[in-house]
Amino acid sequence: MPMTGKTRPASSANSSNESSVTCPTAAPTETDALVIGAGPVGLFQVFELGLLEIGAHVVDSLPYAGGQCTALYADKAIYDIPGLPRCTGRELIERLQRQIAPFEAPLHLGQEVRTVQAQADGRFLIESSAGTRWLARAVIVAGGVGSFQPRRLKIDGVAAFEGAQLRYHADGDVAGRQVVIIGDGDGALEQAIRLTAPGPQQAATVTLMHRRDEFKAAPATLAAVQALRASGRLHFVAAQATGITTSTTQGANHLTGLVVQQPDGARRTLALDVLFVLTGLAPKLGPIAEWGLALERKQVVVDTATFETGTPGLFAVGDVNTYPGKKKLILSGFHEAALAAYGVAARLRPGTPEPLEYTTSSTRLHRLLKVDPEAGP
Ligand SMILES: Cc1cc2nc3c(=O)[nH]c(=O)nc-3n(C[C@H](O)[C@H](O)[C@H](O)COP(=O)(O)OP(=O)(O)OC[C@H]3O[C@@H](n4cnc5c(N)ncnc54)[C@H](O)[C@@H]3O)c2cc1C
Repeated sequence: MPMTGKTRPASSANSSNESSVTCPTAAPTETDALVIGAGPVGLFQVFELGLLEIGAHVVDSLPYAGGQCTALYADKAIYDIPGLPRCTGRELIERLQRQIAPFEAPLHLGQEVRTVQAQADGRFLIESSAGTRWLARAVIVAGGVGSFQPRRLKIDGVAAFEGAQLRYHADGDVAGRQVVIIGDGDGALEQAIRLTAPGPQQAATVTLMHRRDEFKAAPATLAAVQALRASGRLHFVAAQATGITTSTTQGANHLTGLVVQQPDGARRTLALDVLFVLTGLAPKLGPIAEWGLALERKQVVVDTATFETGTPGLFAVGDVNTYPGKKKLILSGFHEAALAAYGVAARLRPGTPEPLEYTTSSTRLHRLLKVDPEAGP
């Protein structure tokens, strides 16, 4: 019996890359499977489910897919993916996204799954931080080392500006505005380079701030930043943030400056329209720890035949799980995703044997993968 991950009632989940806020009162989206985490293993899980004609939705707290590969080492090389002698983290994720494209699994980004509740009919009601709800017949947790959260600036009053003038991700239009960027890594430096580049996206002024004049970035990025500083297009301030300045116009409060303390103790205020805090991401197991799953050292215990947890219908694959001999490698997660898909199929179609078919020779799989029979090998 073919199943689908497509939206049944009217809901938000009709795009393949959506990160919108949904009305919490909307009917939940029904799906065969919900994959929590769009890291390499969560993405490959969609492929393995798809081969078994099980539709899935995918959710991730980050605003982009790829988990650790994108967040922590997008431009570094990986050498132990079978058949791929060398690829960067970003390239692996792009390849996985191409591989799962035939299954058109909706990807819900920028929202953390907060609750997973078993229902009387055996399904699960899942709700995200954006208020999106799903009713899924199986849930696969591919949450890695947890939900990545930006390291937040701990200054009184600044949280009120988050998402508007205060941004923790390098996105949004800041053309013609005064920008301050806090950070010393690739993310902060690349944003400084991007916003100083001539063109329609160019900011009026860009100031990079870190407590020391030392950075942890790729040599090419460092060289580009030094050149921009030398040319005067990028300002650098060695200091630590201690406070903010604000003003009220027409009843609305605006962030106008960042109060900083320099290494010699002097204080100054950096005027700004937009503040980017790009000081890195920290994983937090977060809500996964509250779903009643058996945990061992903050990892979910699974049965290695199906990667099902102690809760029937709830599976865990990739870095988030543990079992004797577990190795936190992408390769291991791919294997786990294949077996978990068969576990999900057994739950959704009890008593129906799932024959093993090869993608090389199965015309059914070719149809699912939208392979052009005329295209040749
Ligand atoms: C610097 C570095 C280099 C590495 N190099 C290699 C290598 O060469 N080879 C190799 O095999 N492995 C390598 N690894 C390990 C590899 O990256 C991990 O094994 C892999 O990323 C695990 O994939 P995953 O999909 O299980 O989890 P992750 O990549 O961690 O993705 C999990 C995703 O789940 C999301 N998530 C978690 N909780 C929630 C929630 N409640 N709601 C919504 N989303 C949630 C997270 O935001 C995250 O995006 C490396 C790791 C690091 C840090």
